[in-house]
Amino acid sequence: DARDLREKAWRMFINRGDNGGEHDNNAIITQILQLRAERAKLLGFKTHAHWRLENAMAKTPEKAIELMEAVWTPAVARVKEEVADMQKLANAEGANNTIEPWDYKHYAEKVRKQRYDLDQNEVKQYLQLDKLREGMFWVAGELFNFSFVPLSNIPVHHSDVQVWEVKNKTTGAHVGLWYFDAYARPGKRSGAWMNAYRTQERMDKPVTTIVSNNSNFVKGNPGEPVLISWDDAETLFHEFGHALHGLSSNVTYPTLAGTAVVRDYVEFPSQLLEHWLSTPEVLQRFAVHYKTGKPIPQSLVDRIERASTFNEGFATVEYLSSALVDMKLHLAGDQKIDPDKFERETLTALGMPKEIV
Ligand SMILES: [Zn+2]
Repeated sequence: DARDLREKAWRMFINRGDNGGEHDNNAIITQILQLRAERAKLLGFKTHAHWRLENAMAKTPEKAIELMEAVWTPAVARVKEEVADMQKLANAEGANNTIEPWDYKHYAEKVRKQRYDLDQNEVKQYLQLDKLREGMFWVAGELFNFSFVPLSNIPVHHSDVQVWEVKNKTTGAHVGLWYFDAYARPGKRSGAWMNAYRTQERMDKPVTTIVSNNSNFVKGNPGEPVLISWDDAETLFHEFGHALHGLSSNVTYPTLAGTAVVRDYVEFPSQLLEHWLSTPEVLQRFAVHYKTGKPIPQSLVDRIERASTFNEGFATVEYLSSALVDMKLHLAGDQKIDPDKFERETLTALGMPKEIV
């Protein structure tokens, strides 16, 4: 347990771009903020934040802050509980220190192992890629009245890519095409994403959409199911939510088509669809063991859900504090800001837990 090394690594990480010298970002941040404030003024807005939010669901910075602060208070309360759990564990180990920011992840991992441990291999046996894709199709049929018909006569950019025609389940009318580029290969971008090769519109004549879901699963041997993690299954449903957003497009103007919506709406369909994975309807039918065909046991689902809330205090406070500081920086107008000082004062005013930063 090299605590001093932890502290050193944490300090190096937290001070990126903030060490003086040629890679220091402070002066650039000041300049960016001043230029943004100037542009907002020229466009007739009070601040950059007001300009950016005018064409968003939130409409005003005040409303965005209200939402963030409503989450902030319970998130900080949860951090206090997490710290108490970690302190108890540290004391039991005889560590004889109070939890500092560089201890957080170290002890959080110990708490996770002790209380929320999940054997990913046990979970994976119930998560077959093909079955989950069928599950997504089923959900899209129930929620959006879509049906999916595999096509083999469509040109594709790689033999791994599969294509389905999406239809209206009732009328059989053509809705669009759904491409699935599931597997990793050299030269392919990492991660998982959705994109549209063509978006829906009817400016001159009706055009239907062509959307694609892309991921980087490791291809199995022929005839063997591809088993994926719970996180990857959630991501699969998430990205499919973006695809359904594209497929549900019903607009005249191409600039408004598919996922070209306001910034604080674009993740709504995908985040909502994620939740269908853990419904009993989907799990009972589609999360079935690759050998026995038996659905995933409820006790295992309960453990997955318990594990999913682990460390949420830290995760929420971490991103929310950044979002709040960012918002306040962009509300400050054209005053010359010292980013270091501004961040410190803003975090103090917010009541940032000292165990995080
Ligand atoms: Zn997304």
